[in-house]
Amino acid sequence: MTAGRSRRRTGWRVGTAIVAVAAVGVAAGCGSDSDDGGDLGDRQVEVATTTNFITDMAEEIGGDRVEVTGLMGPGVDPHLYKASASDVSTLRGADVILYNGLELEGRMTDLLVELAGDTETVAVTRDVPEDELREPSEFEGKFDPHIWFDVPLWSATVQTIADTYAEVDPEHADEYQERADAYEAELEALDAEVRDMLEGIPEEQRVLVTSHDAFGYFGEEYGFEVAPIQGTSTATEATTADIDRVSDLIADRGLSAVFVESSVSPQTIEAVLEAAERKGQTARVAGELFADAAGEAGTEEGTYIGMVRSNATSVADGLGSPAAE
Ligand SMILES: [Zn+2]
Repeated sequence: MTAGRSRRRTGWRVGTAIVAVAAVGVAAGCGSDSDDGGDLGDRQVEVATTTNFITDMAEEIGGDRVEVTGLMGPGVDPHLYKASASDVSTLRGADVILYNGLELEGRMTDLLVELAGDTETVAVTRDVPEDELREPSEFEGKFDPHIWFDVPLWSATVQTIADTYAEVDPEHADEYQERADAYEAELEALDAEVRDMLEGIPEEQRVLVTSHDAFGYFGEEYGFEVAPIQGTSTATEATTADIDRVSDLIADRGLSAVFVESSVSPQTIEAVLEAAERKGQTARVAGELFADAAGEAGTEEGTYIGMVRSNATSVADGLGSPAAE
């Protein structure tokens, strides 16, 4: 086993059921070196993932030792996603399941609890310190799951993935650790790049109007006020009060730019723009942000790093200069 690698295991409380069952799964795996298949030998570790940016990271850290199958493609909303029959068989056939946790995959909770009984099932946010998590007031005492746009915070998931691989494939633990260290260094550089890109945006323009509350961590880390129309989960629909609140803000502050999200229908944003127009403020869609899914596999934006960079570019372009209509 890879004793000593697992840091900060104490901080999690969310998704208690999943975490508890997963912990039992891990404990069982430690003693018998896995129930399903025993030694891997030279066989690749079969990994199933939920969102496509977790898929990308699972590949980065696993390298050629892993075969990763992602369930959710670009534009897929993980809050609403239900596993298909073929997803269930992918998950059952995997050696490792990596998911976000913090109830991002809200409609897969029961399934993940069930799978955790047999398979190494790990929420990649497991080791993020609880006191760094947001607890939005409208999300009923739960944590905000969208930690990936706070690059330093999200980089905690890199070690969690490496630890998980080392547990099921201890022979190659060093390789996983090397790749994890290299990837963490890339994330550090990415964070610096993002700060650089966003630095010049004037104070009064640092308001991010978006479809749902996916950018709270981003706002806290990089200095933006965040004004989402819908709450933390898209499972709760936008109300006319939400449209009113956000269009008031646009009119009161004289904001000229809002953003649509790649995984959420633009309908509510359009309703907000119309309402703001009636209140005397013309705003425009300044760009599309990747929120809960990265872009197409094989493209720059299909990677975690690419999606973060693309968002920073969109925000810098959209808010960077005083609105020239
Ligand atoms: Zn979301």
